[in-house]
Amino acid sequence: MTPGPTEVPESALLGMARQMSHHRTPEFRKLLAEAQAGLKHVLATQNDVAILTSSGTGAMEAAVVNAVPRGGKALVLESGKFAERWRKLCEVFGIEVVRYEVPWGEAFQADEVARRLEQHPDIAAVFTTLLETSTGVGHDIEAIGRVVGPSPALLVVDGISGVGVMECRTDAWGIDLLAVGSQKALMTPPGLAFLAISPAAWRRIESIQRPAFYFDLMAYRKALADSDTPYTPAIPLVRALVESLRKIQAVGIERIWAESRRLAQALRAGVETLGLRLAAARPADGMTAVFLPEGVDGRAFLQRLEGRFGLKFAGGQGPWKGRIFRIAHMGLVDELDIVSTVAALELALAEAGQNVKLGTGVAAASRVLAQ
Ligand SMILES: *Cc1c(COP(=O)(O)O)cnc(C)c1O
Repeated sequence: MTPGPTEVPESALLGMARQMSHHRTPEFRKLLAEAQAGLKHVLATQNDVAILTSSGTGAMEAAVVNAVPRGGKALVLESGKFAERWRKLCEVFGIEVVRYEVPWGEAFQADEVARRLEQHPDIAAVFTTLLETSTGVGHDIEAIGRVVGPSPALLVVDGISGVGVMECRTDAWGIDLLAVGSQKALMTPPGLAFLAISPAAWRRIESIQRPAFYFDLMAYRKALADSDTPYTPAIPLVRALVESLRKIQAVGIERIWAESRRLAQALRAGVETLGLRLAAARPADGMTAVFLPEGVDGRAFLQRLEGRFGLKFAGGQGPWKGRIFRIAHMGLVDELDIVSTVAALELALAEAGQNVKLGTGVAAASRVLAQ
């Protein structure tokens, strides 16, 4: 239960085991068209969705180099390891960064974004994050979209871990560029990244110099029109993606959002009943970050969970290394996984000398699931 790579459905694994075929064929174009239609459903968008052969960071880099020219100005909303990546990418490409920083675990305020946009009317793009995987915060992209919308700035969102598990309405919320990765809620092995591109983003891209070749989105635009890719795609991964998208579409993204919210609420109820403190002021529905109790050694605790139960959580990053653990609940995670996770936490905490009443966390989680 780590935030990627997540478990991959059997049908997707089998899809990858097939013989290579050539990609400039009607058969493969049909597959790409299906992948694009499935991605539009998951991303809740009518915009073009480019499929890139890279990890999620590739889509972030593509967004940066295509949205803001060298010497241009960007507002970066910073709070956590992945938000920090937007700033570093901007710096590498010679973009002037205006920072709006909040402490790790806190959420961005839309009116603070509005204030900075007023102070700097020449901001070309606002870079932010849907699910900040280092802190477990789910940022209010809808509210941020409302203040960025009337400005000339593009709204660029890292939805790499959040899209496919938590509500994200690309078009309704006014997201101009949305970066997504294959290996998190989309239940596909690592190696593909997706970028939804709005008409306003295309106008920007056409009008600026792009210091890119492989990630120059104009090449993708031309190919997208023919259900093609500009360069050789990762054919086995596209086959896996199509299978995983079929599974998502069979349920429907709206239902997945609602179900994920219920699972997250159950897990949070269980964790808090055990006396543990959530790390995020605005917890995301795809991942729960929890502070380790005083006196519990993080490494030993996570090793025990893995050794005894085969349960793998992620530890903390950056300043929160050794202070938190992170439980992802996306993709193939279901109700029973939530209940058994809380049961394992109870046992491991008791064995670590914590004062927990066995069964109370499980009862709290089950009560939420029973509603
Ligand atoms: C995982 C993750 C990334 C990085 O993705 P890679 O596929 O490792 O490049 C970026 N942002 C967020 C929020 C993530 O969770």
